[in-house]
Amino acid sequence: MKTSVIGYPRIGKDRELKFASEKYFKGEISESELNATAAAIREGNLKAQKAAGIDFISSNDFSFYDNVLDTAVLFNVIPARYTDLGLSALDTYFAMARGYQGEKGNVKALAMKKWFNTNYHYLVPEIDDSTEVKLTGSKPVDEYKEAASLGVNTKVAVTGPFTFLKLLRYTGSKSISDYASVFAAEYVKLISEVANACAEWIEFDEPYLVHDLSAEDIKIFKDIYNTILGSKGDVKVLIQTYFGDIRDIYSEVTALAFDGIGLDFIEGKKTLELVKTNGFPADKLLFAGVVNGKNIWKNNYEKTLNIIDEIKSAGVESIVINTSCSLLHVPYTLASETKLTDEYKKHFAFAQEKLPELVEIASLAVNKDEAVLEANKKLHESRVNAYDAKVQERVKNIKDSDYTRLPEFAEREKIQKARFNLPLFPTTTIGSFPQTADVRKNRQDFRKGNISEEEYVNFNKNKIAECIKLQEEIGLDVLVHGEFERNDMVEYFGEHLEGYLFTEKAWVQSYGTRCVKPPFIWGDVSRKEAITVKWSAYAKSCTDKEVKGMLTGPVTILNWSFPREDISIKESTLQIALAIRDEVLDLEANGINIIQIDEAALREKLPLRKSDWYSEYLDWAIPAFRLVASGVKPETQIHTHMCYSEFTDIIPAIDAMDADVITFEASRSDLLILDSLKGNNFKTEVGPGVYDIHSPRVPSVDEIVTALTKMRAKIDDSKLWVNPDCGLKTRGNEETVKSLKNLVEAAKSLR
Ligand code: GLN
Ligand code: ZN
Repeated sequence: MKTSVIGYPRIGKDRELKFASEKYFKGEISESELNATAAAIREGNLKAQKAAGIDFISSNDFSFYDNVLDTAVLFNVIPARYTDLGLSALDTYFAMARGYQGEKGNVKALAMKKWFNTNYHYLVPEIDDSTEVKLTGSKPVDEYKEAASLGVNTKVAVTGPFTFLKLLRYTGSKSISDYASVFAAEYVKLISEVANACAEWIEFDEPYLVHDLSAEDIKIFKDIYNTILGSKGDVKVLIQTYFGDIRDIYSEVTALAFDGIGLDFIEGKKTLELVKTNGFPADKLLFAGVVNGKNIWKNNYEKTLNIIDEIKSAGVESIVINTSCSLLHVPYTLASETKLTDEYKKHFAFAQEKLPELVEIASLAVNKDEAVLEANKKLHESRVNAYDAKVQERVKNIKDSDYTRLPEFAEREKIQKARFNLPLFPTTTIGSFPQTADVRKNRQDFRKGNISEEEYVNFNKNKIAECIKLQEEIGLDVLVHGEFERNDMVEYFGEHLEGYLFTEKAWVQSYGTRCVKPPFIWGDVSRKEAITVKWSAYAKSCTDKEVKGMLTGPVTILNWSFPREDISIKESTLQIALAIRDEVLDLEANGINIIQIDEAALREKLPLRKSDWYSEYLDWAIPAFRLVASGVKPETQIHTHMCYSEFTDIIPAIDAMDADVITFEASRSDLLILDSLKGNNFKTEVGPGVYDIHSPRVPSVDEIVTALTKMRAKIDDSKLWVNPDCGLKTRGNEETVKSLKNLVEAAKSLR
């Protein structure tokens, strides 16, 4: 049995590509120096895979920024505003990725979007009537040849035409159906170039197929691939899907003349069933995604072999053991972790460690080596410090009533209005204040042991006192402590919860040069002791005004961590919810009357299929949030914050979080959300962000008044809050103070 890898991380084991790119952006190194770094990364990646004995290795999985952007450039889908700059090819590419501001002009970057259900982001290419779609690039063939010259025979991996067309933004008069045949013809040319380079296989990545598909989608897909497969000549074509199953198009895909079909058996809940009930054509290779490309755990061989046995018993002969998606979504190698002990490390497999796993599974699938299987089984059963009977018991004992806060919203609203007696259009912020260099240094010094705990705490207390005084001077109504103790809204809580593990170098690309280091949920999660109370209580002691306590919600904490695989995500989330619930109650007991529970990432993990939104996700995610808040007194006010306003389609679910106030980003969107709020009789009080904190620009009073006036047309005055659209931590002090003063003045002028 053979093995395959869909794609390999490309940021470099020590994030070399990130650092080289950043130097290149600053003009500190040349294009050829950047190219040399990139070539070294590609070579290392290829050789690691070859050394491990992987049979199907991808070329063209590398990218300077993003593969969708690469595909756009490959087919000349480059908006004129970028080519007009007259930059080199590489700089035009980076201008699309990051925007350009300099002597040649000033253009914004392409929009960026989340890549399916991952935390990776791709650039959204734009096409208009002046775009001449043609194969102008040669990256796939170049990288194939480069690999060949290194002695590595590869499959050429390219974003597939259907997925590419679905992700494109159409800014002209034409739409997807106008372009389908044009792109099909250009992909045919690509195949013939791949053939000329003597490549045996080309892989088209078509993750879009795991969505709910319309009849039109299916027709477009078939038209494109009938053309492509009709002219593929001797090149073998693998269609690679991932992030789910292809239940809407399985029979069409298997009926087409592909030579290989890649299916995801990890996230594809129905994949196995599809293969069993519909069969799989004998003349094709089934690339079975059984090694999770999105998580960091060692494979459970017993489970995996069961899947393979089932595939075999469905009559499938030719199976290739594959990753479930590109390994882009996991860190490079466990070898870089020096602090995690072997007790823990032996349970993990990052990209590099997944390679021998694939090979071992391929061998076990043919020849079940009982000793190896037994050892793997033991490994999965012996997880040191992972289980906490008390936590499990507590989750089991959650009652239905724990998910409901009483009295109901309308009653609470009255009680809270009377209690807080806030002016009309109350003003507040989202939590963090500028994380200036001194704030970061204080944390760093403490972490490195350069300063004592007392020094660290005193510094933060001074910052809090200053921050409170500043907010009082500005005239805000509900104050915050400023979050100076936090590096990141998830990492901070993870570090204070039992059941979490941290790594040194387990970086994963989020977009371009930006990487994140998600913490690992190792075992049952609980709270050792109060986490935020001392900071919030101190802030409260500095003022007579209300200070909002600031917490991260369970769904966001889970979504930005690597989850466990031995229990459900739902169960882990409930454990986290109980821990944060304890924190909420402690804050309340310590005089904090308003508590914000951020769910910045709630919208992010909506299942790709709309039909799964509730049953697979919202039906437990929303109650998990309610569980956190339901224990407080009626007069305690619960806020939540979400980063995107793109929840027009789940408004009822957001309302069902049953928070008292929700703030969200609205300043960049066209306020369409307000219509939906009105249309759905949204009960929760709302603070749609009145200005964009992602830019240093200071909004004028007039501008804020204009935004508020639009909001007042749709939202009852008694429910409208006034706030920026997100935390201020990435901003400087100067623009923050000016912006907030204008915000307060705008609110006052409307009162
Ligand atoms: N309370 C957090 C902050 O202000 C919220 C961050 C976020 O929404 N991403 O920084
Ligand atoms: Zn936010």
